[in-house]
Amino acid sequence: MIREYQLRMSPEQAATEANIKRYISQEKGLDVRTIKAIRILKRSIDARQRAIFVNLKVLCYVNEQPQDEPFVPVEYQDVHGKPRVVVVGAGPGGLFAALRLIELGCCPVVVERGKDVHERRKDIARISREHKVDAESNYAFGEGGAGAYSDGKLYTRSKKRGSVERILTIFCQHGADVSILADAHPHIGTDKLPAVIEAMRHTILEHGGEVHFQTRMDELIIRGDKVEGIRTHDGREFLGPVILATGHSARDVYRMLFSGGVELEAKGLAIGVRLEHPAMLIDQIQYHNRNGRGRFLPAAEYRMVTQVEGRGVYSFCMCPGGFVVPAASGPHQLVVNGMSPSSRGSRWSNSGMVVEVRPEDLEDPALKATHGELHGTSLSMLELQEQLEELCWQQGNMRQTAPSQRMVDFVRRRLSYDLPQTSYSPGVLSSPLHFWMPPFVTSRLAKAFEIFGRTSHGFLTNEATLLAIETRTSAPVRIVRTDDTLCHVRLQGLYPCGEGAGYAGGIVSAAIDGERCAEAVAAYLHT
Ligand SMILES: Cc1cc2nc3c(=O)[nH]c(=O)nc-3n(C[C@H](O)[C@H](O)[C@H](O)COP(=O)(O)OP(=O)(O)OC[C@H]3O[C@@H](n4cnc5c(N)ncnc54)[C@H](O)[C@@H]3O)c2cc1C
Repeated sequence: MIREYQLRMSPEQAATEANIKRYISQEKGLDVRTIKAIRILKRSIDARQRAIFVNLKVLCYVNEQPQDEPFVPVEYQDVHGKPRVVVVGAGPGGLFAALRLIELGCCPVVVERGKDVHERRKDIARISREHKVDAESNYAFGEGGAGAYSDGKLYTRSKKRGSVERILTIFCQHGADVSILADAHPHIGTDKLPAVIEAMRHTILEHGGEVHFQTRMDELIIRGDKVEGIRTHDGREFLGPVILATGHSARDVYRMLFSGGVELEAKGLAIGVRLEHPAMLIDQIQYHNRNGRGRFLPAAEYRMVTQVEGRGVYSFCMCPGGFVVPAASGPHQLVVNGMSPSSRGSRWSNSGMVVEVRPEDLEDPALKATHGELHGTSLSMLELQEQLEELCWQQGNMRQTAPSQRMVDFVRRRLSYDLPQTSYSPGVLSSPLHFWMPPFVTSRLAKAFEIFGRTSHGFLTNEATLLAIETRTSAPVRIVRTDDTLCHVRLQGLYPCGEGAGYAGGIVSAAIDGERCAEAVAAYLHT
């Protein structure tokens, strides 16, 4: 007999399967020995009140064992000799496009400028150790894309539940823990993601697809208004329709498209800082307990959002128990981001704190005063990002040392005499962020911090550090495509995909977009 229960229990009661079985037996009057297995369908933490509860939806197997797996695996075809599709970029967009193409009977040829996910790790370590950024292998470029060394948060604002579940299932099929199917806020963790990504590559290769590392697309092969393939940095040509999933850091790709007259649009993004608190402090605030999270709760999350002078100010990509990382993709840049291991066990919790900036804001006198006239083209937001990242690198003594300021000092517009210890391994230096970052951003951030401090007592504190600068919250450019065919508005055979195209933000939404682009190309090939 299988029974479904909605349960509300303490974190300790929900901590292990044995505890949950015991709870069910007591609450539902069942002999615990008859409960052969349980399967958690949904899990969320309710931390709104002083007493914290875990809400569970479970299947309880009484006197029987589960007969099926927690998910139905996707079946992949053999695509040797099938129509070839060029997939540029092996981030979530490109990888999920490649897997979907195999499912649909097309042969993906994945071309990736960076190294495989394990080799890449060495270049990433060098950024912290030697302050050297390899322009082809870094936190943005390489197998797994920007998502590989991340928190691996898998939640999305996407409303398409079915699509989200499919993506999570494919992650599980490639080795992710099945708990991501149940968790309200699933995450994989930077220590576990590389093995999952590697397993996806094996699926692509085993079924007849190709993966070419350290192969950078430098050119599209265009005849008339049709894209027929790509040319790489070493002069090779790969022919077929092109799924362009190069992410938001491939500025050379945007420039190549711009100079070739490919239709692009400037796109709004958000700019700010990484804010890092001691994890204990965030746990105390969010769990209303001066002892923090205790033994049975995970590092606490938060989400902040407000409006200041007509622009949204919000927390972005929160990493509980995580690390701030140097996310530049080339020399003369300093840009920060965050990641966490699966345990979320570090002593710090961070999030981006960013202000929405729209293309029309480039006309704002406060931005013009610091950044002059930007060109007013589809690349103007990209130029703003570049200027800010270079300015930040200069303020960091032309190294990856992050200019930083205590939180209250920033709000009060004073230099910090010293800084708390941070998780950022290249190191930090005290810097008046309120002075050199655009006032358009800093004045709104300061006001938002005061609001957040009022709604969340203890959040606005000098124990927290601001690290500059956070600019890569989304693509600065949209590569314009049609809504129905997902093909570029003019160029037949070109499918702008994922975050870089301006149609996704985050791992899951890039993956969903990758699948949709694959379906669109398969439909194009079969007509
Ligand atoms: C440190 C960090 C932490 C993050 N944490 C999270 C998180 O926890 N949850 C979440 O949802 N999102 C997170 N993100 C954002 C997320 O990683 C991106 O939204 C997602 O990876 C976008 O997927 P994509 O496939 O569109 O592009 P990308 O992941 O950027 O992949 C693009 C790929 O294209 C390759 N490429 C670029 N140009 C070329 C070229 N010319 N030729 C060949 N290959 C090329 C790149 O090397 C790269 O591998 C994080 C990002 C970073 C940097």
